[in-house]
Amino acid sequence: MVDVHCHLNLHAFDSDWEEVANRAFDSGVTKIINVGTSIPSSRRAVELAHKFPNIYAIVGVHPHHADKTDVEFEGEIQKDWLTELEKIAKDEKVVGIGEIGLDYYSYKSNGIVDKKVQVDAFVAQIELAHKLKLPLQIHNRHAGMDIIEILKQHKSELLKIPGMFHCMSGNLDFLKEVLELGFYVGFDGNITYPGLAPGEITQLSELVKYTPIERIVTETDSPFLTPLPHRGSRNEPSHVIIVARFIAQTKGIPFEKITKITSENASNIFKLNANH
Ligand SMILES: [Zn+2]
Ligand SMILES: [Zn+2]
Repeated sequence: MVDVHCHLNLHAFDSDWEEVANRAFDSGVTKIINVGTSIPSSRRAVELAHKFPNIYAIVGVHPHHADKTDVEFEGEIQKDWLTELEKIAKDEKVVGIGEIGLDYYSYKSNGIVDKKVQVDAFVAQIELAHKLKLPLQIHNRHAGMDIIEILKQHKSELLKIPGMFHCMSGNLDFLKEVLELGFYVGFDGNITYPGLAPGEITQLSELVKYTPIERIVTETDSPFLTPLPHRGSRNEPSHVIIVARFIAQTKGIPFEKITKITSENASNIFKLNANH
């Protein structure tokens, strides 16, 4: 079982990330992919990947940080961020470009970044991924159809397996577009939450039911989105097992089959076995 999207590279894990990673491997998680959201956190994801053979990195600038170029952020000034990202992305343990995309939701901790700034950063990183022949890991919140439109405009630059949408949400029409473009779909611990997230109209369990198992990957987004019954505490990659179990129950497919196929899916997208 693979956690294709978590953030042991963020400060929440500064003091004990190795212990947390070992706990996941001891529980049956086979591979962990840490994902950057900025230049410093992307660099840190690569650093961690070199400490364990089964830890990989995805690097990129999140839409929330698309406006933080040339200002001080996380202890450095992100000058020439795209050139810097390209350098980081050439590391042998980098398996994708992410998390990139669009976010039109206003959070307490982060307002909505200017849409044009978000789009420009997203497109620049699609082009970088094309140049480096890496798949995309896409972040979307309330911006699904704009993302689809941009991906369609750049279809010739996408790989045969173009990548995945992480932390799937949205409606069935959007999910159909995602699948039609060849993308895989990641689900997190929030699939265990009752009710609907603000502004959503489709239950995540409906999206789980509709997505063919051949296109599903498992993730945690640790330290965020802790699944029930641990909601309220820091999330960690060992909880990807809870996500897989919930998917198994929702789809009425044996847990072992879910873990086998979703692990194969992760390896197919990110070439986890072939190159590393
Ligand atoms: Zn995200
Ligand atoms: Zn994330």
